[in-house]
Amino acid sequence: MARAGGYPEPVERLIEHLQRMPGIGRRTAARLAFHLLKASKEEAAELADAILDVSREICCCDICWQMTDVQPCRICNDPGRDASCLLVVEQPRDLMGIEATGIHQGVYHVLTGRLDPLGGVGVDDLTIDALMKRVDDSACNPRGVPVSEVILGLSPTLEGDTTAHHLTDLLRSHSVKITRLARGLPTGASLEFATPAMLADALLGRSGDSESAD
Ligand SMILES: [Zn+2]
Repeated sequence: MARAGGYPEPVERLIEHLQRMPGIGRRTAARLAFHLLKASKEEAAELADAILDVSREICCCDICWQMTDVQPCRICNDPGRDASCLLVVEQPRDLMGIEATGIHQGVYHVLTGRLDPLGGVGVDDLTIDALMKRVDDSACNPRGVPVSEVILGLSPTLEGDTTAHHLTDLLRSHSVKITRLARGLPTGASLEFATPAMLADALLGRSGDSESAD
């Protein structure tokens, strides 16, 4: 069924769904929809299956909140990783960037975002409670290992800094070493745009936060 002056209803529906994705406006959504129209039935079915598989099989790790298909995730479950050293990142993409450097031998905590009061992202929207539980109670950390160092791997942006200060305030009264990635990263850029070499330098040159009780 086609609306006068509009696309047929199934095309409109597809455009509407594509438009809900981050960074996709109506024009881009329409371009993607036309690209999909040209795909074979098999290709379309494979794409639909891939989307369904993600929603069926992928969830967040109960401990570190990264994307996983097993519980806990492979990093939390790896006895070769140092569970006492916890690297806090904003999103799974940052974790993957740091993993690509091969330098961090500890575990992670994914905040699922960063504090942005103007954008409507508050403390309760992030996994800060879960992070503090891991620091407070070793039973909440992989293999019951107590946390001794928290590395704040947040983006050098206003929101990243706000989040880092908030976490430093919360962690200050706990007996953990608080460090931050070195400032080799371009100010204002998200961590996800850093190259592996930049991330490796930032990780190796990390320093104790001057506000920490350490
Ligand atoms: Zn995990």
